[in-house]
Amino acid sequence: MAVGASLWGLANQSGEFGPVITKPGSVGSQYGYVNLRWMPGSPVFDKAKATGLHVSDWQNLILVNMVGRRFYDETARQYSSNDYKDVDPYTQGSWRNVYSVKFNPRNFINAALSGIDDGHNGGGPIWAIFDADAVAREKWDPRAPNVDGANGFFFQADSLAELARAIKMKYQRVAMSPEALEATVARFNGFVDAGKDADFDRPKPLYKIAKAPFYAAWATPVLHDTRSGVRINAKCQVMDMHGETIPGLYSCGETAGGFSEHGLARATTQGRIAGMNAAAEQRA
Ligand SMILES: Cc1cc2nc3c(=O)[nH]c(=O)nc-3n(C[C@H](O)[C@H](O)[C@H](O)COP(=O)(O)OP(=O)(O)OC[C@H]3O[C@@H](n4cnc5c(N)ncnc54)[C@H](O)[C@@H]3O)c2cc1C
Repeated sequence: MAVGASLWGLANQSGEFGPVITKPGSVGSQYGYVNLRWMPGSPVFDKAKATGLHVSDWQNLILVNMVGRRFYDETARQYSSNDYKDVDPYTQGSWRNVYSVKFNPRNFINAALSGIDDGHNGGGPIWAIFDADAVAREKWDPRAPNVDGANGFFFQADSLAELARAIKMKYQRVAMSPEALEATVARFNGFVDAGKDADFDRPKPLYKIAKAPFYAAWATPVLHDTRSGVRINAKCQVMDMHGETIPGLYSCGETAGGFSEHGLARATTQGRIAGMNAAAEQRA
């Protein structure tokens, strides 16, 4: 951008299609990617620092933002997507497919990242809050190397107020108020009694958060792909705000925006295209 490149595909980052930023699959460690966990003995375990607690049943916890407020039905799906069979029936090439598109927004990500109304972008850390009974139900061992307390990604305390006060780490730019966390948990426990989540429609909340010790485990959404980036053309040349190419500058893979493709296929294909065009440009 410093040399005039335009950004592109920004809406792709939080749209309702595919895993771009996801709800984590495990909590209590910084890298909670849904399909992968680092175990002690891994050559990169010193970077991962903890394995994380894999969540089998999201009924066992609530998710709160930096200031201790819930924001979503925690049991909802991992992330928004346009999965196989989402448009059903589907007929190749038929405009009548639009009749099969169901409006079913489930954007966990926008809710998680929506901020706390303090003039800053972004919501800060998301914390999974649970109690000793949840640990027993999930058969978790909430100690290192399963959790990363040493670097501020896991906390425990004998009361909810102490737990909120304990949450201190580099991304928690606003302190969580003990009263706010207590109020959130009390309200949620009321939903368990009532059998109905009046705030976020979690299907039949099952378990109160009531038995010490209480835990706060890092559950911040995980970046899976960057689908937004600088604007490129089909030769992978970087383009400026006026749609003109910037001579000699190419972009591909995670740095490029748009093109509706993700992952290794995008990186390798665009890398090849960019390389061939850069070489041809050099020869010319
Ligand atoms: C956990 C995870 C699982 C995934 N699983 C899949 C999958 O199953 N299938 C799939 O297709 N895709 C998957 N992806 C996506 C895929 O891995 C990425 O899209 C792909 O690796 C991106 O390649 P890239 O070359 O564009 O970027 P990167 O692999 O990020 O490469 C960028 C490189 O630039 C280097 N760099 C950064 N800054 C500088 C600098 N200033 N100077 C020099 N070098 C610098 C970085 O160190 C890095 O090596 C996954 C991604 C993640 C994170």
